[in-house]
This record gives sequence, C-alpha cells and structure tokens, in this order.
Amino acid sequence: MQSLRTIGVFTSGGDAPGMNACVRAVVRAAHAHDLEVLGIRRGYEGMIEGDIVELDGKSVSNIVQKGGTILKSARSKAFRTPEGRATAAQQLRRAGIDGLIAIGGDGTLRGAALFYEEHGVPLVGCPGTIDNDLFGTDETIGYDTALNTAIENIDRIRDTADAHDRLFLVEVMGRDAGFIALNCGIGGGAELVLIPELLTDLDDVKRKILSQMSSQTRSSIVVVAEGDELGGANRIAEALRKDPAFDPIDLRVCILGHTQRGGSPTVRDRVLASRLGAAAVDALVEGHANVMVGIVNGSIVLTPSRTVWSRRKSIDYDLLKLTEILR
Ligand code: ATP
Repeated sequence: MQSLRTIGVFTSGGDAPGMNACVRAVVRAAHAHDLEVLGIRRGYEGMIEGDIVELDGKSVSNIVQKGGTILKSARSKAFRTPEGRATAAQQLRRAGIDGLIAIGGDGTLRGAALFYEEHGVPLVGCPGTIDNDLFGTDETIGYDTALNTAIENIDRIRDTADAHDRLFLVEVMGRDAGFIALNCGIGGGAELVLIPELLTDLDDVKRKILSQMSSQTRSSIVVVAEGDELGGANRIAEALRKDPAFDPIDLRVCILGHTQRGGSPTVRDRVLASRLGAAAVDALVEGHANVMVGIVNGSIVLTPSRTVWSRRKSIDYDLLKLTEILR
C-alpha cells in the first residue's frame, strides 16, 4: 500500500451546521499524524477544476462555531460523468493527494464509492447532512442544529397560532426522510405529523384536524416534511381549502426552508463533527478506504459506502406512535 502523506478534504451536497467543526478536526488530527492537508473547495466541482488550497493549523482557527462551510459546497453535474471523475482523479494526482475525506450526504457517498471503484483513491466519508437520512450513524452532522432551529420557529408559530385561533401547516426539511418532522412534532407539541415514510390519507388528515380544532383547542400545528407524498404544506393547504368544512378555519402555511440549514452548530453537532473528523483521519491512516465513519450507540463504527446509500435508515416507529398519543 502506498504510504499516506497528503489528505484532501471537501464538503459536498447541501451545507450543514458542523461541517466547519469537522474540517477543523480533520486538519488538526491529520497534523497530529504528521500528514499534510489540502482543502478542495466547492466539493466535486472544485475537485474537477483543481480548486485546491493548503490548510494549515491556523486556517481552521475560529471556525468551530461557524455555520456553512469555509470550503464551500456545490452540486456537480460533471462528477456524475466518467469523464468528470477522470479529470478529478488527474487533479488529485497533480496536487499529490493520496487520500480523501468527504463530508456530505448520501449523494456525496454514492459519488465517492464510484470514484474509488474507478480510480482507487482511498476515501473516508463523514456523514454531513441535516436530514439524518444516512444508514451507519445514529446522527448526522447538522441534524441536531436543524432540529433546534426548527423547534425554535415552531414555538414562535405556536404563539401566533394560539393568539388568532389559527391552523398552521409548518413545513420542515426532509425530502426522503421524516426525522426532522417527527422529532419537531413531538418537541413542538404538534397535533399532527406528516412524513414521507407513511402514506398520508387526506381524509384522515381532515378528520383529525377538524376534531382537534372543534374540541380541545382552536389552534393547531401540523408539521409536514417537505417530502410528504401529498406534496408538502402548500399542496396540502390547497386540498384542505377546497373542502367547505375548512371554510371557517384560518389556515396558514409556514415553510421553514433554508433557515434550517444556517446558524451556529449546537454543542452536540460540534462534538459529533469533531469526533467524526478525527475518526475519519484515523480510518485513512489505518488503511481503510471506501467507508463512512459514524457513531452508533456512542461508539465509532465504519460502514462500507455502498451499504450506507443502499440501506434505508428507519425512523423510530415508537416515536410516531407517541405523536398519536400526545396530540
Ligand atoms: P444532501 O443530503 O444535503 O442533499 P448529498 O451529498 O446527498 O447532500 P447530492 O447533491 O445528492 O447531495 O450529492 C452531492 C454530489 O455528489 C452531487 O452534486 C454529485 O456531484 C455527486 N453525486 C451524487 N450522486 C452521484 C452519482 N450517482 N454518481 C456520481 N456522483 C454523484
């Protein structure tokens, strides 16, 4: 095996709070192993263009608390092509990079697995996505911060919903997964939670909202994951407004959108990102390739990249039952 001298690190896909803490951990842990670190800017797009900068210890000072990513992120169409990946491999060779650490979501790891199979550059992934939809880790970097941002907003919406006896459909992020919606639903005392993992029956939704609003309270909050198969909060609101039973109800939609991506990471995300970044360096040094580092039940685990994106992480169905009991 070729000995490892220079590591390249990049952030890719949607940005997530805590990515900077992870980059910092990668740089500092690599230096502790006497490795050099180069930062690849704008994910796979920057890799193809050779947008590569040196990362010394100082360059990652004062970033542990910052949201976004100092390396910037991108979604790259070119990397989806064999030609794009070949150019990326050439750029890495030119820069002397002999191991990679990717911080991103399942798309990033899909690309990474292909890249390893085609070009053999050892790569360790760190799970960085607010959606928490990655198999092989209990939590992903950014998820806890996104949850806390969403819950803060839901609490605010609760105040106005209550003051005006309104029904609010609050849409949170989660294209394929309901982790944010489910946990915010419980933490924010939502009357109903709609997630992509379960078929949403519109008649059932109407029945539950109407009984709720006519009995215990006259305000209500429904948390909707953006990937709910009825099509998100706006589409559901449209369908409800067509029903005359909803005429007397003051129905509003609030889409939390990108507010959930930004902001300073919570301490939980900073610690998670720091542990994962350092563990990713250890994994590369130990000769692992084409794996993702995660934390399961408090311990670092390595999962083959292919397993990460080919297996679906399940939501906690006990939590779903709890939303029914507590509403
Ligand atoms: P998030 O969960 O926040 O969206 P992600 O990592 O899943 O993060 P994607 O945009 O899906 O974000 O993937 C990041 C990048 O990975 C893509 O822009 C693309 O360059 C690369 N990628 C994704 N899927 C593939 C694939 N099947 N083949 C090659 N490259 C891919």
